[in-house]
Amino acid sequence: MAKTTKTRKKDKNAGKVINPSTGTEGSPVDVPETTTEESIEKTVKSKLTSLYRLQTIDFQIDRLRSVRGELPLEVQDLEDEIAGLETRVEKFNNEINELETEISNKKQSVQESLELIKKYEAQQMNVRNNREYDSLSKEIEYQTLEAQLAEKKMKEFSAEVETRKEMVEKVVEELDERKKDLEAKKAELNDIVAETEKDEAVLIKRSEEQRNKIEERLLTAYQRIRNNARNGLAVVPVERDACGGCFNKIPPQRHLDIRLHKKIIVCEYCGRVLVDDVIMDIVKKEQ
Ligand SMILES: [Zn+2]
Repeated sequence: MAKTTKTRKKDKNAGKVINPSTGTEGSPVDVPETTTEESIEKTVKSKLTSLYRLQTIDFQIDRLRSVRGELPLEVQDLEDEIAGLETRVEKFNNEINELETEISNKKQSVQESLELIKKYEAQQMNVRNNREYDSLSKEIEYQTLEAQLAEKKMKEFSAEVETRKEMVEKVVEELDERKKDLEAKKAELNDIVAETEKDEAVLIKRSEEQRNKIEERLLTAYQRIRNNARNGLAVVPVERDACGGCFNKIPPQRHLDIRLHKKIIVCEYCGRVLVDDVIMDIVKKEQ
């Protein structure tokens, strides 16, 4: 980058800056008289590059963790679905048991009616008068109706049992499918967990190495901004004249300051450290 001939001035509109030596927000960094503009530019540029490099690594770690975070949820969903289907099978089976008890009760009551009819018919042979005969006939008629009614109920219950058995069959079929899905999903999850853990370990090591290259105060500021940012991004590029973190417009003067690499500049809206495409390209080329 060409050396700028502009003299540094206290610009009230320059906005918040992070002092690279203290890592805290404050007034623009005071530059010792003996330091040349070129060396300031070099130093700040390398600090920004280191920070952005760290941010890129940490972003990849975040992404791996979020991918892994969703998979157990999918397994959980399947397990919930299977539990729901098993409950349905159990409910149908209980209903079938109840219906079968009802059927056997009705069967018994038919049997009882038939026995009573037999008994009344025998009694009719030995009646002393018509009144007794008619009375027994009424009983026989009544028991015949009872038996017919019970048989009708038995048929209805049997039909209900059949319907439920068909439903159970369907649910069990679905249950088997879901159980197969679950096994596959679990295997997939295990593979991905193993895979991402390996990748994550490599990235964590790189992140730690990168952190060792950054001065502690700047690192503390980075970590603080990162913890406060919803997407975990503490260092963002300027994109189409806006902050890449919160998308608020960046005033031209501040944009110019970012390009000059003379101080570390943060977004006045979200507090994220801003880098220009020069820094972004350096880090991009390394990957
Ligand atoms: Zn912002």
